[in-house]
Amino acid sequence: MAQAQQANHEERPHAERSASQLGALAKCPGYRPKPAARVHWVTAQGSRGHAALDAGDDGELHSEFEAGMVETCESYAAALPPASRQLEEMRVETIEGRWGYTDRLRIRADEHGNDSPVADLLDWKFVRKDSVTDAEFNLQGKDYVVAIFEDPAFAFLQTINVHFVLPRLNTVSTATFTRDDVPKLKLEILAVLARARATDAADYDGSTLRPVYGLCTYCGAAGNCVALRRIADGIARQYDPAGYGQSPALPAETHASKVTDPAARAQLQKLAGLMESWSSSVRHHNLTAALADASLVPAGYVVDWMKGKRRVTSPADFRAVASRFGLTTDDLIGASNISWGKLEDILKFRAPRGQKGKAVEKFTHALLFAGAVDPQQEVPRLIEK
Ligand code: SF4
Repeated sequence: MAQAQQANHEERPHAERSASQLGALAKCPGYRPKPAARVHWVTAQGSRGHAALDAGDDGELHSEFEAGMVETCESYAAALPPASRQLEEMRVETIEGRWGYTDRLRIRADEHGNDSPVADLLDWKFVRKDSVTDAEFNLQGKDYVVAIFEDPAFAFLQTINVHFVLPRLNTVSTATFTRDDVPKLKLEILAVLARARATDAADYDGSTLRPVYGLCTYCGAAGNCVALRRIADGIARQYDPAGYGQSPALPAETHASKVTDPAARAQLQKLAGLMESWSSSVRHHNLTAALADASLVPAGYVVDWMKGKRRVTSPADFRAVASRFGLTTDDLIGASNISWGKLEDILKFRAPRGQKGKAVEKFTHALLFAGAVDPQQEVPRLIEK
């Protein structure tokens, strides 16, 4: 049974595949709402607007502009035929074991001021773009209409007018539904839900997913979406037609010291590169997961906090303090690890244009002549041809 219920719009729990998600699920059955890392300012304005309309109190609004949007909603509602009663933020039991909250239900008054068989269902949308599907087709409105008609408390209702009010855009979309429409509306909602629920199966192959940028970008399932992966795979194949998706072949002998065939050695060389990336990825993700959640520490391991590497952040201050303790410049130079490359960069930076390479060359010759450095030795490595 429906019940009027005040609730914080941001904290209020939402049903699995709630009324407001049905439109997205109709576009793609695999859609999942994305947990918001932060509340967008438009969403925050909408929450404050809803709260003000619900409580009839503008006190929490942040600006004249927000108050103006609330006023637009109230003016629209006030222009509707008189109501015998008005229910704010009413919890309704939507079909298939779900629930939702209507923004405002106004039962129209008959000539005696009692409940008439007609109601107005108002839904406030504080959106910036006209992205709200017309009330005639909007599954959120239909879901609520069915819930209200099926609630014994509203058995007297025969007609519900749905009004989506978009105060920021100063537009309204309306549609009228009667009790006779209920079977058709229920079937529409069931069709969308059934197709969406089929995507929960462990062996679901992703064949019904319908990727579209404007939806996928807000989808919490995008990271693991088979349809998006197929798109990415197709693009990757175009970049690497010969090699993409090929598993590296494992030679019969994997101990490098026993392999003599150059082709087998090449296979091992490739695998070694992969293993390096793989092993650092395993370490990174295992540690990240363990730090985020103690239950994800790999079995038999503990997180150990090693002492971090100490480093000097201000060489000038360091030298000043060291000299107070009797440490000389020679002591400091002897204990330092001078970066030859970094000093070359400084020289290059300071030298005039056209003289940069020469400055470094002269510096290198001077260091070699003084016996201050070992000339750079060439180091062999294997690279792909
Ligand atoms: S990311 Fe995948 S599941 Fe989500 S809406 Fe797009 S296609 Fe559908």
